[in-house]
Amino acid sequence: MVFKSKNFCIVLSSPSGAGKTSISRRLLKKDKSIALSISCTTRPRRRGEKNKNDYIFITDEQFDKGIKKNEYLEFAKVFGYRYGTLKQTVINIFNKKKDALFDIDWQGYQQLKQSNLEVVGIFVLPPSKKELVKRLKTRARDTKKEMKKRMNLVQNEISHFPEYDYVVINKDLEKCVEQITCIIESERLKKSRLIDLTKFVNRFRI
Ligand code: 5GP
Repeated sequence: MVFKSKNFCIVLSSPSGAGKTSISRRLLKKDKSIALSISCTTRPRRRGEKNKNDYIFITDEQFDKGIKKNEYLEFAKVFGYRYGTLKQTVINIFNKKKDALFDIDWQGYQQLKQSNLEVVGIFVLPPSKKELVKRLKTRARDTKKEMKKRMNLVQNEISHFPEYDYVVINKDLEKCVEQITCIIESERLKKSRLIDLTKFVNRFRI
C-alpha cells in the first residue's frame, strides 16, 4: 500500500551565490511531484529569461493592483525591486497534486510561515566565504563598491538561517541535491501528512 501525502511548500532560501537556482533546476528535473512557484517581479528581465517561465514580469502599477486585490500570498522588496507569490499560483500547483517549490528570500519565508499552509524551510549556505566571493565575482562585472554592497546583503540574508528547518551546505551540487531530496522524501513520510493512514491502520483491528 502506498500512501498519498498531503501537499506542502518547500522553501529554498540562500544568499546570492550559494547555487540555489542550479539546485532548484535539478530538483525539478529529478522529482516530477514538485512544481516551481513562479513569482511576479518588477525587476527588468535578464538576458535569457522568459516571461512566465522564470518570472512573471510586471510593472509597479500591476504589482500595486495585485496587492490591493489581496492576490499575493507573500511579497517583499529585494535588491530594490518587488517580488511576490500569487495565491493562485500555489492553488494551481496543489490542484495538480504537487508540492510547491519556492525560491524566495527570508522575508517571503516568514510570511509563508504565517499563512495556513504547511511549509518546510531549507536554507542553503555556500561552503566558505572564499568560495562565495569567487562565485559573486564570476556572476557579474562588479566594482569593488558593488561587491561590498553585495557582501553586506549576503551577511544579512545569512543571519536568518536559524529560522529555517534545515540548513544544507552547497559544496558539491550533486550531494546537496541528494540531501534536499532526502529532506523532501522524509517530510512526505511524516505521519501527519499521510492521507488515509488511520483508515489503513484501522484495518488491523480485530
Ligand atoms: P533574482 O532577481 O536574482 O532572481 O532574485 C533576487 C532574490 O529575490 C532572490 O533571493 C530570490 O530568492 C528572491 N525572490 C524571488 N522571487 C521571490 C518572491 O516571490 N518573493 C520573495 N520574498 N523573494 C523572492
